[in-house]
Amino acid sequence: MIDNNNRIVNYLRISITDKCNLRCIYCMPEEGVNFIPHAEILTYEEMLRVVRVCIQKGIRKLRLTGGEPLLRKGVIDFIENLSQLAGLEEVTITTNGVYLKQFAHSLRKSGIYRINVSMDTLRADRFHHITRRDLFDQVWDGIEQAESAGLSPIKINVVIMRGINDDEILDFARLTYRKPYHVRFIELMPVGDPDKWIPERFISAKEVFDIISTLGQIMTIRPDPLGGPARRFALEGSKGEIGLIGALSYHFCENCNRLRLTADGKLRGCLFSDTETDIKKPLRNGENDQYLFALIEDTIRNKPRNHGQAVWSPRKCSRPMNGIGG
Ligand code: SAM
Repeated sequence: MIDNNNRIVNYLRISITDKCNLRCIYCMPEEGVNFIPHAEILTYEEMLRVVRVCIQKGIRKLRLTGGEPLLRKGVIDFIENLSQLAGLEEVTITTNGVYLKQFAHSLRKSGIYRINVSMDTLRADRFHHITRRDLFDQVWDGIEQAESAGLSPIKINVVIMRGINDDEILDFARLTYRKPYHVRFIELMPVGDPDKWIPERFISAKEVFDIISTLGQIMTIRPDPLGGPARRFALEGSKGEIGLIGALSYHFCENCNRLRLTADGKLRGCLFSDTETDIKKPLRNGENDQYLFALIEDTIRNKPRNHGQAVWSPRKCSRPMNGIGG
């Protein structure tokens, strides 16, 4: 389906839970998180129904996110059901990797071919500092297990923060010489509590690129045919790839093809916009597919033109990232 700004919207990201087993410093507070009450969370059946209707509205690609999607019970069966839906070209998942070791093979069998794993450091002590959990080895084992399960490519999402992990940009880039991973550097985004946003921590994708350029010859790779937001590169002689996601500095709003469904059943046209369409209420009130069609159509049509975020003047977006699905 095409929105009011002539963009094809064919990609749905579903946050299947807002719960997470990490507490990354830029994403969640250490304590006192208000999770969505269980009864408010969409059941898998409800999510499947929304997805079926979305497919009829042109959604072709699906990503499960959260919170931590591998925390929710029954996720593998859910993925199997999604993978069997006619019209869907791809189901993928973004995970923090904590449970990847135990799930990698079943994910592959359930119909997932590629995977995104978030890991902001290659150092165990720093992992503890960033995530507030001592689970570096478990995540790294999970990534290697994903590789042996044949998930490919494995994209490693790295949120780069000045003074926190920016001294590892070259280490992450060098990893692509050894491993076939796609390392994607993501600009820090002002989501959630605006008082917690520290602009000085922001590093632009351009700055990251300049640092990586010191390593050797860089080749440009053509954009993802499935419409990913990363600018893609590879270091000459490497096995993997490097991606830069300039969520703020060169935002990809013009080509944004995304629709989001939160765990509590709200459709969002933009990560940063608090404008939401409640789809849970009509679902639970027994409304028919035509009614849901109209809601989805309306949300897609009125997708915000751009996110309007800037490094020095972040707009308020009150839902935390774990509640929207990053
Ligand atoms: N638990 C899963 C994971 O860790 O990948 C999925 C959810 S997590 C919210 C999705 C992605 O959002 C992660 O790559 C995380 O690093 C990113 N993220 C969260 N808060 C962010 C922020 N303020 N700026 C940039 N990326 C952020």
